[in-house]
Amino acid sequence: VIRAQTQTSPGYVPDSKFYKVEAILRPWRVPQVSSALLKMGIRGVTVSDVRGFGAQGGSTERQGGSEFSEDKFVAKIKMEIVVSKDQVEAVIDKIIREARTGEIGDGKIFLVPVSDVIRVRTGERGEQAERMAGGRADTSLISRANNVWKDSSFTF
Ligand code: ATP
Ligand code: GLN
Repeated sequence: VIRAQTQTSPGYVPDSKFYKVEAILRPWRVPQVSSALLKMGIRGVTVSDVRGFGAQGGSTERQGGSEFSEDKFVAKIKMEIVVSKDQVEAVIDKIIREARTGEIGDGKIFLVPVSDVIRVRTGERGEQAERMAGGRADTSLISRANNVWKDSSFTF
């Protein structure tokens, strides 16, 4: 099964066991994105407040008519999610589904290869450090059932 998943994964360059999905998104869409990720068993997410400039340029978000950017940069949220290679496409699909409005300024996703993951508490590295209790790859019976229940597109 792992072999099948690997074969259907796109041939990312450079090849890596882990990737960081880095998404720059509209702040008001982030709660929706993060709860959808949590429901599919993504447990590790980092967010930061950032300001950026894209095709949206200096146009502020249409939000209650209040302009909250003092300069040409627009307030965005950066979400960083490190996952194993076989989980990348599912995470990207979910982010697009939850964050897209179809209008300029929806954001962008960057895919970055990650050389290693180290859990500070235990010193674990690699797969052991990347896997999280209750995560997508957690094979314990309860979380496996939870994952199936939460996300019917989960594949073993
Ligand atoms: P522990 O079991 O020791 O708690 P953990 O894997 O749950 O380890 P934390 O120590 O809780 O990791 O993580 C600290 C912070 O690291 C989190 O608040 C989050 O910002 C970030 N983080 C953890 N895992 C990931 C990940 N896979 N992708 C992105 N950010 C992560
Ligand atoms: N891939 C991890 C797991 O399945 C989860 C990674 C994450 O939550 N970012 O346990």
